[in-house]
Order: sequence, then C-alpha cells, then structure tokens
Amino acid sequence: MGFKNVPWVWMNGSIVPWKDATLHVSAHALHYGSGVFEGIRCYETEDGPCIFRLREHLERLLASARFYEIEIPYSLEQLEKAICELISRNALSSCYIRPICFRGSHDLRIHPGNCPVEVAILVWPWGRYLASPGSPGVRICVSPWKKFHPQMMPTTAKACGQYINSVLAGQDAARRGFDEALLLNMEGNIAEGAGENIFVVRNGRIFTNEAQDSILLGVTRDSVIQIARDLGFSLETRSLALEELLSADEAFFTGTATEVAAIREVDGKRIGAVAPGPVTKRIQDVFARVISGRELKYSRWLHSLRNGEPRSI
Ligand code: PMP
Repeated sequence: MGFKNVPWVWMNGSIVPWKDATLHVSAHALHYGSGVFEGIRCYETEDGPCIFRLREHLERLLASARFYEIEIPYSLEQLEKAICELISRNALSSCYIRPICFRGSHDLRIHPGNCPVEVAILVWPWGRYLASPGSPGVRICVSPWKKFHPQMMPTTAKACGQYINSVLAGQDAARRGFDEALLLNMEGNIAEGAGENIFVVRNGRIFTNEAQDSILLGVTRDSVIQIARDLGFSLETRSLALEELLSADEAFFTGTATEVAAIREVDGKRIGAVAPGPVTKRIQDVFARVISGRELKYSRWLHSLRNGEPRSI
C-alpha cells in the first residue's frame, strides 16, 4: 500500500496539499501517543460514493476524545462535511478515511495541558486488509501479548498510544508467518484481533464477546450483530474461552479495514471443515450487499456524498 494519487489532506480546518500536511517532531502525540482516531470506509455504489456508518464512527471519535480530555474544536457535523469535501476533492469513488485528533507541539511534560489540539483527515484507496471474501480465510495465532485490561486504559476508546499493544502483537504474528494476531485478555479469555473483533459459530449459533472482555466496540461488530439477528440467527454476546474458538465450527473477524474475514486456522489448528463456513459466507454475502447499497433495509447506514444526507431510497 502507498499513498499514491491522493493530492489533498484536510488539516485544522482547511484542505491542503499532501506535502504540506506536516507537524513538528516535538508534537506531544508523537512522544506519548496522545491522540484519538477513526477508521472509516467509503464505498462505491450505484448512487456514487457512500460512507459506511459515518455518524457512528464520528460519535466513537468524540467519545474517545472525551476519555482523554481532548477538546475537538469541530462539531460532528463539521467533521462529516470535511470528510465528504475531502473525498470529493481527491476524486475518490471508494477509500479508507482516517480522521485523527491529537496533541500538537507546545512542551513535552506528560500532562498535555497547553499542547494544542490538532485535527487532520486523510483519505486514500485501501484494498481489503486481510483475506478477501471467497478466499480460504486467514491464519491467526494466539499472541503472547495480552490485551490491556480496561482498568489500565479505556479499551472502548480508539486512542493512538493504545495501539502499541496491537503493534507488538501484529509484529510477532507476522514474524511467525501468521496473517493476524489474536489477543487474550487478562482473564485468559478471548479479547480481539490486533485490529478486529471476533465471532465464533457453534452448532448454528453465533457468539461474540463484550466491552468487559477488553475489546473495542467495533462498528462492523455492531453491524454484523444486527445482520445476523435479522437473518434469524441466534446471537449471544458473552465472554469466550479460547477452547470455544478452537472447537468452533466457524470463526470470523470483523473490522472496517478487514470487513468480514473467515478464520481458517488458529496456531495451525483448522477451524471447521471449510473456510468460509456456511454461516460466515451468508453474513459476508449480506455485508457485501449492504456496503454496495444493494440491501435497502440497511440503506440508513450509508451516507451519500451526492446529497450529503444519509441515503434513503
Ligand atoms: N478492535 C480493534 C483493536 C480495532 O482496531 C478495530 C478496528 N477499528 C476493531 C476492533 C473493529 O472496529 P470497527 O469495526 O469499528 O472498525
């Protein structure tokens, strides 16, 4: 991946050329990770580019900022508008969207007191992060690194510094030849992937874990929960032991970058007979229809760039 063919970046209220979207090496966030961010996707549909669950992502951004006392000097509506303008300006029909709000340069005391809050938005074309639908699924490992406990850092916040935990786990997985890492929590139960939530399927029933299990409450997770229930599946949210994954019929990851990716193996052990299994495949198919605007029931989840309003048909 590279950032080719993206001439414009939104930074502190205006759209600037990519090369000018810079900051000083003394920025507080660079040293201490004092920022919050989002990962959002914009998809190509028959109605032009549509952003998936934009409002929910921005609400999570504002909630993450509140945890860290980062006062974002823009309203949700202003950020919404900035994102739409930036995608149009870069003439992208589909892309990944990365808003980030962080402490800039003033001094390097740990307390970020007088460091200004800076806001930037990047957009760029980004293909699927892990396996594509129809591929045999991803091979993951159980990370030696544990997911931090909610009493250490707010796991439901998407904050820059918190990701160093995922970076360690991801590096270890890659070094050992796996596609992605799965982190257990401090209780020894399943937490989540380095950048994904996890679902397991057992005897036709679907399970995923909850905020108290040290996870980010994914927007894709929420979408898949709604889709699965609407399809008539029984879906329960509760803590999950590693054994339940190892003996599952199917398992899959969800995330904005990853979308819905079947898990084929955990530490070399096969999960189920085929990947994607039938339940995963059904959810993948509906999700693909939802994001391409072909599933009218969920059209409220798509924010059209053409009319600037949540799309309704
Ligand atoms: N957990 C972590 C640690 C993540 O980084 C992500 C990606 N944002 C997710 C879960 C999935 O969240 P979402 O579906 O909102 O992208």
